[in-house]
Amino acid sequence: MLLVSSAIVGEGEAAALADVIASGWLTMGDRVKQFEDAFAEMHGAADCVGVNSCTAALHLILHALGIGPGDEVLVPSLTFVATANAVLYVGAKPVFADIESLEAPLMSIAEADALCTPRTRAVILVHFAGYLADRDAWQAFARRRNLLLIEDAAHAPGLKEVGTYGEAAAFSFYGNKNMTMGEGGAVIARNPQVLQKIRQARGHGMTSGTHQRLNSRTPTYDVTMLGFNYRLDEMHAAVGLVQLSHLQDWNARRMHLANAYRRLMTLQCPEIFVPFNEGWRSAHHIMPVLLPEGSDRQAVVDHLRANEIQTTIHYTPVHALTLYRGLYPQLTLARTEAFARRELTLPLHPLMTDETVSRVVTALASSIRGETRARDAA
Ligand SMILES: *Cc1c(COP(=O)(O)O)cnc(C)c1O
Repeated sequence: MLLVSSAIVGEGEAAALADVIASGWLTMGDRVKQFEDAFAEMHGAADCVGVNSCTAALHLILHALGIGPGDEVLVPSLTFVATANAVLYVGAKPVFADIESLEAPLMSIAEADALCTPRTRAVILVHFAGYLADRDAWQAFARRRNLLLIEDAAHAPGLKEVGTYGEAAAFSFYGNKNMTMGEGGAVIARNPQVLQKIRQARGHGMTSGTHQRLNSRTPTYDVTMLGFNYRLDEMHAAVGLVQLSHLQDWNARRMHLANAYRRLMTLQCPEIFVPFNEGWRSAHHIMPVLLPEGSDRQAVVDHLRANEIQTTIHYTPVHALTLYRGLYPQLTLARTEAFARRELTLPLHPLMTDETVSRVVTALASSIRGETRARDAA
């Protein structure tokens, strides 16, 4: 089965894990620090904080920025549920903004603007599928409305622009992301004081970490805030360091494959709509396409599965999930819903070749043609 995403792990990660075990130091040690330094450097940042998930990273960012009850935070609905959940964790209200268009399915600034109230404090941008939101336009919007700009950069690690939009950015190293630790995350923040607060909140709000206490003459600590346990351990950091060394090559490979998809689909199944264009800055996390209006998506999924090709959907809009339906029973977002109805995510990962891309497009084209014939006959 050709999977939508595939972690690439091997001897490098195994050796790095064996080193951690041999060292006997399993959490909050040198490898966490090394990973933080290397990840920050790749994004042109002075520092970063490693955590155990992107969800934790988003929570810590909102917490450190002082967002809480009574505040509203603008978010897209075309995202993973964690983007909105993090807003609920701090007691604030997620306000869902529609996407710009089917061609550019990122949160619309005009929609976000129309949803602003005196309670709006922040906006969480999602670089959907890896495609970067318009930084200048969002910064101008945030300045004009006096809002804090936050990036959910789970889809876009490795691009130097990421982490430079506003206050902070959250990254994910979950098993299906561009680089993985199995579970893991990171925060980049512009203001060193905010990042320090995030570092402290990561470890129970304690004023020093275990490693620091070992290396200093004052073995005591204090707790000066209500913190969390969102720590990254040495095993995850060690895997992350190996993965990070491949990230740029893997992202380049993803771009090559995404462009191959675009070209083959134009030739073999022009009825399929491919959002974004070839020149758009992207980490190419996933390959979303839109099936023709009115086509039977389940039939296409089944046809591809019969050809040993897995597909998924990004996303069921957050506002359409049962939990959020209950919270926002009246909400409709026409473009987000239209996109989600037709969307299909094709396999995209660096182990693929031009031949596998061709195999997927051929299977998709035959499925779409079969669909069209079935509908014409009906
Ligand atoms: C994966 C993902 C997350 C959550 O990441 P975890 O590391 O699993 O917590 C958040 N936002 C987006 C857009 C994601 O794709």
